[in-house]
Amino acid sequence: MTYDVAIIGGGPGGYSAAVRAGQYGLKTAIIERQPRLGGTCLLVGCIPTKALLHTADVWDYFKDPGSQGIECQNPQLNYSKVLDRKNKIVTKHSKGVEFLMRKNKVEVIKGNARLLSGGRIEVEGAPGKQTVEAKNIILATGSEARMLPGLQPDNELILTNIEILDMPSIPKSIGIIGAGAVGVEFASIFNRFGSKVTILEMLPRVVPVEDEEISKELEKHFKKAGIRVETGARVENVRKNAKSVSLSATLTNGNKEEMEFDKLLVAVGRKPNTEAIGLENTRAQQDRGFVKVDAYQRTSEPGLYAIGDIVAGTPQLAHVATAEGMVAVGHIAGKQIRPINRNRIPGATYTDPGIGSVGLTEAQARAQGFDVKAGKFPFSANSKATILDKHEGFVKVVADATFGEILGVHIIGPEAFELISEAVTAMEAEATVESMMSTIHAHPTVYEAIGEAFNNVYGLAINI
Ligand code: NAD
Repeated sequence: MTYDVAIIGGGPGGYSAAVRAGQYGLKTAIIERQPRLGGTCLLVGCIPTKALLHTADVWDYFKDPGSQGIECQNPQLNYSKVLDRKNKIVTKHSKGVEFLMRKNKVEVIKGNARLLSGGRIEVEGAPGKQTVEAKNIILATGSEARMLPGLQPDNELILTNIEILDMPSIPKSIGIIGAGAVGVEFASIFNRFGSKVTILEMLPRVVPVEDEEISKELEKHFKKAGIRVETGARVENVRKNAKSVSLSATLTNGNKEEMEFDKLLVAVGRKPNTEAIGLENTRAQQDRGFVKVDAYQRTSEPGLYAIGDIVAGTPQLAHVATAEGMVAVGHIAGKQIRPINRNRIPGATYTDPGIGSVGLTEAQARAQGFDVKAGKFPFSANSKATILDKHEGFVKVVADATFGEILGVHIIGPEAFELISEAVTAMEAEATVESMMSTIHAHPTVYEAIGEAFNNVYGLAINI
């Protein structure tokens, strides 16, 4: 049988593309080498991490229930139950993905796929080798944690996003190399669960892809929460001891310090899974291991598309993979489809306070020659944030003075990762600062702070 579309990889990019292909009536197969569908995001990434983060949020309230007028004697964190809850959430949603495949008549083929020439894929699975033929193939093979030279994750001492999710107990101390999304999210979780957390980041600031003011604010709150943050740090000579990990860190002031941790999380980025998938049998072009695509996610091999973490030039985020999948399948099905607008991709980092952002940072906008006008509003002046006991952070709007064009919005604070949706929609609808100023925001809400930040582009915020 020849499929209309065969998708390699069952993560959010691949499974969403499979659903959409099924909806369009295309004869579709999805090939996955893991026993369960869901990919990194669902099985060992976004979903289990956010499940732990939610428990950390809830646990925070139990640290001082008296401040809410709640008397609660000696609350305890039962970590094995915390892990059970996380695992149940993952299982529920992985089963949900299987259901979606059945519902949309997508055939699930289990095994390791490798491209052959001419629209054929060799799949090696439990029944042995088989060849799958398809008119179109979508590569959605994802990525895996990059390691520092000479280090290997080992389930005991040196961990990636995978092993850290299943530690049987909360370690007394954790060292984290890298202050990107993975590093700061786990810092936020385990700091609140009681570990002593040290972050070692080589660049001058944490979350370096965010607006500089966001990085500064997060670092301030992390330090206040007791997380040791060392930016501009160089890590060398990582050694495994019987029950701990030691390393040498050269700090930004030039001092060298020996450090020892119960666990070491390596969170220095992810490398695309493109090495053993048979790309050499195609004309697809690569850039340092990433696959080059055009606006419709096409590689240089006719009928071969790529989406998600393996794509050159777009951020490695689940929602980007999904959006790229919609473009690829839409193109295959001959639908009118709009390519990804790289400037409208929201970021959502689940720390405490959280981060949500979209568009250009202030520095990027200035570098691109815009006549930048920025408006800020702090959550400390937002009544709902005070009610929630979450008044850290701010909303920052980056706009162009000429026509009030919204160039970017950067939020750090309560539910920032949810609040950013308003800014994404505004930019997608090409709203201006003026139209956002006259958009009515319900009271009392945390998202009123967004309206106020737009007011403040012109110095017209009401509540500060
Ligand atoms: P990242 O690329 O976002 O961050 C890695 C960090 O490690 C960078 O700040 C980098 O400067 C630092 N680094 C690299 N080498 C180092 C070294 N030798 N010593 C010290 N620091 C070093 O990577 P990540 O945090 O591993 O995340 C991987 C991908 O997954 C990213 O694209 C990220 O956006 C995505 N992700 C997103 C979310 C989310 O959206 N909530 C959560 C987790 C991961």
